[in-house]
Amino acid sequence: MNRLFNFSAGPSTLPLSVLEETARELPDYRGAGMSLIEMSHRSKAYMAVQSEAAALVKSLLGLSDRFTVLFLGGGATLQFSMIPLNWLGPNKACDFTLTGAWAKKAHADAVKVGQTNVVYDGKTGHYATLPDPATLRANPGAAYFHMTSNETIGGVQWRDWPDTSAVPIVADMSSDIMSRPLPTEKFGLIYAGAQKNLGPAGLALAIVRDDMLARCADSLPAYLQYKTHAEAGSLYNTPPVFCVYVLHKTLRWLDALGGVAAAENLAEERAGLVYEAIESSHGYYRCPVAPAVRSRMNVVWRLPSEDLEKTFVAEAEAQGLSGLKGHRSVGGCRASLYNAMPLEGARALAAFMKTFERNHPAKKR
Ligand SMILES: *Cc1c(COP(=O)(O)O)cnc(C)c1O
Repeated sequence: MNRLFNFSAGPSTLPLSVLEETARELPDYRGAGMSLIEMSHRSKAYMAVQSEAAALVKSLLGLSDRFTVLFLGGGATLQFSMIPLNWLGPNKACDFTLTGAWAKKAHADAVKVGQTNVVYDGKTGHYATLPDPATLRANPGAAYFHMTSNETIGGVQWRDWPDTSAVPIVADMSSDIMSRPLPTEKFGLIYAGAQKNLGPAGLALAIVRDDMLARCADSLPAYLQYKTHAEAGSLYNTPPVFCVYVLHKTLRWLDALGGVAAAENLAEERAGLVYEAIESSHGYYRCPVAPAVRSRMNVVWRLPSEDLEKTFVAEAEAQGLSGLKGHRSVGGCRASLYNAMPLEGARALAAFMKTFERNHPAKKR
């Protein structure tokens, strides 16, 4: 076996122990004579896994009993439409922070459903910075205040949260969920596609507060209503059982590691190594993101030329450092350093960056 350090943005690296345990259990789940993904989603064995997964989400994030944990199909992207469909009735508007590519996608779907107020648009700063949250206000009466906690493509991450008063924050945390503690009482809904910090793609984790559930529309087709899933305990239809199964193992792994506080320390250390390699290069590597809001999950940077970027990605790949090409919409390089990325991966990348810089000096102008 030759596992690479996988810096892919998503689907992305998972803990080796999680993969190995899944593989071991697959032919015969704990003496059941079949795998967990071949049995009914209403079997005792599956339901135990799903309810323990939900309990782990709650305990890891320190969520009160006001929150319901849902496992839904369609990834984070279906949430982009379910959220406005459930909470943007006629005469109801929501607030949006446009912080990058993912926030803009969520906003584009919300606009098709109802009214939105853009309270922040990072366009003039090329989405490479974020405002001080203390300067942001929610519009009184807004249905919710939407934020993207970490922009996976642009590499900006909110460090802190605004005071939105009575307006609940709805946050897309796809690429940094479970990477730090949260002031959970500020949030009405937290959602995340699973394929960055939690497990396989296709699953969305949605954590909904009771007052939000009480307000959601009931005129929608059943699957699109949060209430349907809350009342059915995420078993209204067949849930993405394989995704939930692996997510359960990933959360157990995180719990044993020390939970989100430990994850935050590790994330700081990993990202710190790569940002240090960028800063100490005196301009050879350039991170476009304002230092105060640089993401600990997705580090983005440029080299002196696109040719050097191509060579960098190819040589890194040859050294077992995989997936460093930036998103096709922005180019450059990107290292995704999710919870499951070992510290040694970040060390190896930082060391490679220093060697590469020495071996490929920028051409003098
Ligand atoms: C990956 C990602 C999504 C999309 O997730 P899907 O599961 O592909 O729908 C949405 N928001 C953010 C911040 C992401 O990183």
